[in-house]
Amino acid sequence: MEALGTLVGESVEETLDPNDWAEVQALSHRVVDDSIGYVRDVRERPVWQGMPADVRAFFTEPLPRDPSSISAVYADVSEKVMPYPMGNTHPRFWSWYMGSGNFTGALGDFLAAIQGSNLGGGNHAAALMDIQVVNWLKEMLGFHASASGTLVSGGSMANIIGLTVARNVKAGVDVREHGVAGLEKPLRYYGSDQVHSCHRKGLELLGLGNKALRRIPSDSDLRIDIAALRAAIAEDRAAGFKPACIIGNAGTVNTGAIDDLAALADLAKEEDLWFHVDGCIGALIAIAPGNRHRVAGIERADSIALDPHKWLHAPFEVGCVLVRDHAAHRGTFAVTPEFLEPTPRGIASGTWLHEYGLQTTRGFRALKVWMALREHGIDKFGRLIDQNIAQGRYLTTLVEAHPQLDLVAPTSINIVSFRFRTDGLDTEAGKAINIEIMQRLQEQGIAALSDTTVHGKHCLRAAINNHRTRREDLKLLVDETVRIGSEILAERSKGW
Ligand SMILES: *Cc1c(COP(=O)(O)O)cnc(C)c1O
Repeated sequence: MEALGTLVGESVEETLDPNDWAEVQALSHRVVDDSIGYVRDVRERPVWQGMPADVRAFFTEPLPRDPSSISAVYADVSEKVMPYPMGNTHPRFWSWYMGSGNFTGALGDFLAAIQGSNLGGGNHAAALMDIQVVNWLKEMLGFHASASGTLVSGGSMANIIGLTVARNVKAGVDVREHGVAGLEKPLRYYGSDQVHSCHRKGLELLGLGNKALRRIPSDSDLRIDIAALRAAIAEDRAAGFKPACIIGNAGTVNTGAIDDLAALADLAKEEDLWFHVDGCIGALIAIAPGNRHRVAGIERADSIALDPHKWLHAPFEVGCVLVRDHAAHRGTFAVTPEFLEPTPRGIASGTWLHEYGLQTTRGFRALKVWMALREHGIDKFGRLIDQNIAQGRYLTTLVEAHPQLDLVAPTSINIVSFRFRTDGLDTEAGKAINIEIMQRLQEQGIAALSDTTVHGKHCLRAAINNHRTRREDLKLLVDETVRIGSEILAERSKGW
């Protein structure tokens, strides 16, 4: 006994806390100062830059065995990591569909990590704030006060949770107990041919398979054709399928098209289907005074996926799903294992938030959203959404007015699909030239666009979901696209 006691007494017990807090404090002040400069001066830097070979090699360095000073670690981060971002905080980043972040949100992420709470649930301030932010989002969308919801990693997970509740409610059997093998008839989900790829992943994951997602043609405005949807539902019923869920788009990822949500809500009611809205892009238009009419009917959904890391510009990651029927939501995920029994008092007496999704441990995502909403108020976020939509219209006007550019799809909100004209060349050459323009715009650090194909036509695509964008940036985009496009045509005529 004595020998053991001596051994424990003599061993040095370690911790990850610093030996010298003053050194960490000084370094932390530098990190904050550098971070402020980084965000403040983002406009002065290239949108994106390729990494030199030595920087790429840095990421293959071996597993560190020996310690380094925190200053040396930070020096590496500031030289090798921070100068080579994806670029989405830059005012001229319009690729895919992302938010542009905000400094207050970044402070929120830092403080959330410092407090370190686990949002699996419990009786503590972070858990109450998580619930509060979900309630605020419900209110922003005009959704039912009795609805449930949960913050998740992003829109994909938010959609998957909505689709899962839909499956379990509409299955007609206890899917939790028996799995999809217990289904009497195969379930069918419906969305337009513009529906985001995460729905396919979701249905695959749910054991229903890709074919369970019936893609309904979209019209010339890229909105779901309601008559075709109605016919498909009837056809499926007659063929022995069980229609379960309509997925409405409040902003498609290709062009920002917003389905007729009120008509879809009516049809879902008539056919007794679950109505899920993918509002990752557009649900938050509900707070934009100039445009909220576009998403009228969204409040009639059974579930809504939305993405605060898009139009609320929260630093990644944070998505949210709202479910009108609280009991159905909880009933899809809640399990109380013996090690997570609630208690009448103490830490385990709060709400178990893991009962509303797939994760057990959850990060404190609410704080970054909460802090920015408190700082600016939601009216400003609403105005910024209106501003991006007005900028979408402005870019559309510039494209339409330019003889070298074509608008490829109608602009619904803030996504502009266009191409550089390559008259006299075939479709493949036209596509190659437009892709080359996109790459040069990125490589020259000017602007980040992405590309897509809409109803068979390839196009460049600017998704203006960015609170730092100004009209002059869009003017520059048009000028530079045409400059680079003309350059490429000239190179081609010399044998490129
Ligand atoms: C972004 C997006 C998603 C996926 O959301 P993530 O946050 O990227 O997971 C789903 N649907 C639409 C319409 C989107 O724009």
